[in-house]
Amino acid sequence: MAQKKKIMLTGDRPTGRLHIGHYVGSLRQRLELQDDPSYEKVFVMIADAQALTDNFDDPDKVRESVFQVALDYLSVGIDPKKTHILIQSEVPQLHELTVYYMNLVTVSRVQRNPTVKAELKMRGFEGESVPVGFFTYPISQASDITAFKATIVPVGEDQEPMLEQCREIVRTFNRTYDCDVLVEPEIYLPENEACLRLPGTDGQAKMSKSLGNTIYLSDDEETLRKKVMSMFTDPGHLRVEDPGKIEGNTVFTYLDAFVQPDSFEKFLPEYRDLDELKDHYRRGGLGDVKVKKFLFAVLNEFLSPIREKRAYYEAHPEEVIAALRDGTEEARRAAAATLADVKRAMKIDYFESWADEYGVK
Ligand code: ATP
Ligand code: MG
Repeated sequence: MAQKKKIMLTGDRPTGRLHIGHYVGSLRQRLELQDDPSYEKVFVMIADAQALTDNFDDPDKVRESVFQVALDYLSVGIDPKKTHILIQSEVPQLHELTVYYMNLVTVSRVQRNPTVKAELKMRGFEGESVPVGFFTYPISQASDITAFKATIVPVGEDQEPMLEQCREIVRTFNRTYDCDVLVEPEIYLPENEACLRLPGTDGQAKMSKSLGNTIYLSDDEETLRKKVMSMFTDPGHLRVEDPGKIEGNTVFTYLDAFVQPDSFEKFLPEYRDLDELKDHYRRGGLGDVKVKKFLFAVLNEFLSPIREKRAYYEAHPEEVIAALRDGTEEARRAAAATLADVKRAMKIDYFESWADEYGVK
């Protein structure tokens, strides 16, 4: 078989601004792939229809967040000349695909999806009180991925069960309709372990908009300082002389994710590298405040150029709107081509094929 075209798709729910967990879990990988010439197409989707599945009663939040997420993308360096940025609800083909895929998935299969289980619990959707739209979002996510024939999906590790569900739908579709129309996607995870699931500033397992334990890409310097200085560390490390723990210490996890080769030279020259700093912390004699001040400097250096670019795009909304419009148009073309293949495979391409079948000129 011919070499598959390399195509990337990923996205975010517009339920708020993006945070540094999004950056290390997914945005960083997108920036790398948009510059990789072996990728034929790169799509990034603002998943507003998915956000509405559990925020249908708060349309203002979703609407406002669509624009904010677009600003987040542009400010970290997602380049609309290389990446098509699309708005999910503006691509009707995605929703058409979902209707057909729903036939291929059982209720019990969705119920077994560990991410769905965790999210139902987090949102307090007990028993059968879950909105049907929310329950079926893994199927809609499979439509998003397959519509673009994505081969790779850079997302955080919480999304692995969604990718597995998508691959199953692809296999079932291709088998049922005896075709090879749909493409199985692979997940693309960050290499650095700290980035797989960045914890929250409160030490909870995941930094998440819904949990309110985030550092936003758009946080100003003072907000960042306050958040870092009140971060969770090692609760057993009470006095500076006490030995401290690195495992589960969020400040060190963030350093693992964000320290640059020249960070020590710039901001903490008495240490050579992160290993030396960790050794000192473990031995005792290194206070949390000093480590937090270092983390603040590292994060502030990372966020400064992002804030500048954001300010530029805030002053040029016409460029943001043009990027979204162009990206969405390109996405419609790509999704329409896949939908046509899908309908042909399902034998519901009536007006394309009847004329031939019935010998009509
Ligand atoms: P919500 O609470 O609305 O679900 P969220 O913060 O979980 O928001 P999503 O929009 O669901 O964000 O996730 C977008 C992408 O970012 C996904 O690929 C997800 O895996 C990744 N991601 C989100 N939070 C983190 C995190 N803390 N660490 C690593 N990756 C993350
Ligand atoms: Mg989420």
